[in-house]
Amino acid sequence: MAVVVASLESVREKVEAGERLDLEDGLALMESDDLLALGELAELARRLRGGTDEVYFVQNLYLNQTNVCRVKCKFCAFARTARQEGAYTLTADELVADALRQRELTAFTEIHMVNGESPHVDFGYYVETTRKLHEAMPDVHLKLYTASEIHHMTTLSGLSHEEVLRELKAAGLGSLPGGGAEIFADRVRRLVAPGKEHPDVWFHVHAIAHRLGVPTHCTMLYGHVETYEERVEHLLRLRDQQDKTGGFLAFVPLAFHPENTVFERRGFRFTPGAEDLKVIAVARLLLDNVPNVKAYWIMMGLPLAQVALHFGANDVQGTVVREEIFQAAGATAGTEQKVEELVRHIKEAGRVPVQRDTLYNELRRWE
Ligand code: SF4
Repeated sequence: MAVVVASLESVREKVEAGERLDLEDGLALMESDDLLALGELAELARRLRGGTDEVYFVQNLYLNQTNVCRVKCKFCAFARTARQEGAYTLTADELVADALRQRELTAFTEIHMVNGESPHVDFGYYVETTRKLHEAMPDVHLKLYTASEIHHMTTLSGLSHEEVLRELKAAGLGSLPGGGAEIFADRVRRLVAPGKEHPDVWFHVHAIAHRLGVPTHCTMLYGHVETYEERVEHLLRLRDQQDKTGGFLAFVPLAFHPENTVFERRGFRFTPGAEDLKVIAVARLLLDNVPNVKAYWIMMGLPLAQVALHFGANDVQGTVVREEIFQAAGATAGTEQKVEELVRHIKEAGRVPVQRDTLYNELRRWE
C-alpha cells in the first residue's frame, strides 16, 4: 500500500495545534533534507510540550560482566564465544571489586550494565551480581540488563519474565536499559539479528517491568539496512507502548557503528552527522509521550551532541566511565569525561546543565 507523504508545513500545523503526528508525518520528516527546519520543528515541539533550557546528565559507570554471547548479531563487535581470544566472564565478586575501585575515582550515582547472553552461567549468577552490587553500594542506582538479557534468563531458569524481574528487583535492580530493540521490523531483524527473540518479547518485558514499578529506557539502532518507514514504525510502536504502560524514562537513538562487524567488509560507514540529527529531531517529534531524548555523546562526540541539543535532545547521557561495546566498534570519543567537560559543553550550547539521578531527580545545577 502506498503511503501518502505529508508536507513539513502540514506537520508544523499539527505540532502548533498540539496534534499527534502519524506515519505519514513521520515519513515526511525522515524524507526531508531541510535539516534546519527539522531541528526547528523538533525544538518547537519540545518547548510546546513543556521543555526548558535544562539539559541533563548523570554520573555513571558502565560495566560489562561478560562478552560471551550465543546470539551472534551481525552488527555486534563486542561478543565472543567462550573460547575465543578476549572472551571474559567476571564473577560477582570480581565485578563488585572493580566497581568499588572505580567508585574511589568518580562519584557515580548509577551503574549501567549490559552483557553478552552467555549460555555458561545460570540465573543465580545474575541475582547474585545484582544483590552484591546493591549491598556494596546501596545508594547507587542499578540499571542492569536489557530486555533480551531478561529473556535469556528465562531460558536459563525456566522462570517467567515476571518471575525473573521480581527476583532481580528484590535483589536491588532499579531500572532496565533500552537495548535489544534494534529495529522491530521482521525483515530487518532477520538480516541483522536473526538469533534474537521476536520484538514482541522486548515489549512484553518492558510492559511487565513498568507494571512492577521498574522504569526502563527505549532505543533504536539505526543506520544499517532499515528503511525510513521501518524507523518511523519503530518509533510509533514505542509511542504506543508508552501510551499503555508509561514507564519509559528516555529514548536513546543508537547510531550503528560498523567497524569490526561484517558490515564494515560490505562497505558500510558511520552514519553522517546530519542523519544523527535527523533521527533525534524525528524521535522528539513523534515520541510526544516520552519526556527525554538523549544525544548519546559517546557515539556522536560532544561537538555534535551540542548541536543535537537544538534538534530536540535534552540529555547528553552521562560521564560514562568505561564503555566497551561501542569502543569495540570504533567509537572515538574518550570514555572518561569529567563533569566539568559536560557542563562546559552544555553551557557552550546555550543550555543550563543539570546533573540528575537515573530517575531524573535534580542533584545539582549550573546556572
Ligand atoms: S548485540 Fe548483544 S545479543 Fe547481539 S551478539 Fe552482541 S552481545 Fe550478543
